[in-house]
Amino acid sequence: MSTPLAQLRSSLDGRVTVPGDAGYDRARKVFYGKWDRRPAAVARPASAEEVARVVTLAAESGTELAVRSGGHSLAGHSTSDGGIVLDLGGLTGLELDLEGGTAWAETGLTAGAYSEAVGAHGLVTGFGDTGSVGIGGLTLGGGVGFLVRRFGLTIDSLLAAELVTADGRLLGVDEERHPELFWALRGGGGNFGVATRLKFRLHELPSVVGGMLLLPGGPEVIEGLVAAAVAAPEELSMIANVMVAPPVPFLPAEAHGQLVVMALLAYAGDAEAGERALAPFRALARPLADMLQPMPYAGLFQGDDDMEVVEESARSLFCDTIDATAAKLVVEHLEASTAPMAVAQLRVLGGAMARVPVEATAFAHRHRPMMAGVGCVYEDAADRPVHDAWADRFAAALRQGDPGVYVNFLSDEGPERVREAYPGPTWDRLVQVKRRYDPGNLFRRNQNIPPGPA
Ligand SMILES: Cc1cc2nc3c(=O)[nH]c(=O)nc-3n(C[C@H](O)[C@H](O)[C@H](O)COP(=O)(O)OP(=O)(O)OC[C@H]3O[C@@H](n4cnc5c(N)ncnc54)[C@H](O)[C@@H]3O)c2cc1C
Repeated sequence: MSTPLAQLRSSLDGRVTVPGDAGYDRARKVFYGKWDRRPAAVARPASAEEVARVVTLAAESGTELAVRSGGHSLAGHSTSDGGIVLDLGGLTGLELDLEGGTAWAETGLTAGAYSEAVGAHGLVTGFGDTGSVGIGGLTLGGGVGFLVRRFGLTIDSLLAAELVTADGRLLGVDEERHPELFWALRGGGGNFGVATRLKFRLHELPSVVGGMLLLPGGPEVIEGLVAAAVAAPEELSMIANVMVAPPVPFLPAEAHGQLVVMALLAYAGDAEAGERALAPFRALARPLADMLQPMPYAGLFQGDDDMEVVEESARSLFCDTIDATAAKLVVEHLEASTAPMAVAQLRVLGGAMARVPVEATAFAHRHRPMMAGVGCVYEDAADRPVHDAWADRFAAALRQGDPGVYVNFLSDEGPERVREAYPGPTWDRLVQVKRRYDPGNLFRRNQNIPPGPA
């Protein structure tokens, strides 16, 4: 074992797993099987001080450092070949201030675990659509989910952070302390340090009305669904997946093999108003399944724990609308895919997210009315070029207006696409913050914002 690793082992109460150890394969595993990397060590610190020790050791030894909260990076950034993975999974503390309406959460928590815990008090912070995603990666990139129109992005509920910077300091960061860094943390991803704790605003929301509405997937329904979501009160947010229904037990047999829209809807308000807001969606076509009902916010999360995604080709973009022409393009491209499963995801934005001034945080796309994602999953890496080309064509067909992408939906797509996440002045400001807090680019296994020459 080389010296830095021996130091790492001896200086941590938390676990350090290296090749040859029992549990190494489990420790190095991330959500996407295609990122099958072999780190030199996976360190699982037991405190913020230990996080700082790992950061310092990586910096001093020149070892690549990958930071992991929930392990769902689309680009494989939370693992490394030959580097140190700093796995925050052991840090799952949650401190609630019910009177003040805030929560301090350690970043090893998943969105699901956090939401279950605060939901017991009738409270929420909005995350994404999947419970097993880590609050670390999701929040630092922005956080777009079922409450986006009601309470904004996850970062709009972020009040403060504790951050270990490249020089091993543990900083308290908020509007008063390191305000530029706080601006950058809200959307700039993992570029500036390791967030060990995040302080969130808690919103009162004892229940939502929502769940899945399964509709036939013709162009008229797709167009109508988007129009209904745009016209809906802003308590309602929608994430709609258009796909050929797989033969899974939770979908009715009559839907298997058919193009369907799996509309995930959430009305963040009282049940009666929710039923009224959902009526236009139910009226679009005879539903193949209607699972809309009152439930706690955490009940909305899609379970992906048993999901094994090996290969995926995906592209994400912001767009203005899905009109009749775009809806037809969606259907045509899905039908043209040769992958076992292909999907187009449509999210209508606006509401609270759009009311925050664009320069208030490093998330630069608040004014865009919609986000679309296209993707397919398959088994064989040899098929990747074909499916990547399909995803590129599909995304190009839906593109309207300025280019732009949500950083957390970027895969490993190169520096030009990272620039699309941070257009114009946002990029320049992020580079300034990066220069100040990570001039040596220690935190580079991410959608990277290089500090440039000093
Ligand atoms: C199935 C699935 C569904 C998703 N749904 C949504 C959704 O609805 N809405 C949405 O907004 N996003 C969604 N995402 C995207 C998700 O937000 C990103 O993949 C995010 O980076 C995952 O966070 P993580 O902590 O699980 O990932 P990780 O792989 O652990 O981290 C990703 C990167 O974030 C940085 N990072 C993570 N934790 C920290 C930390 N504590 N300090 C500093 N840097 C850190 C690091 O650079 C790391 O490489 C989804 C992803 C998947 C796979």
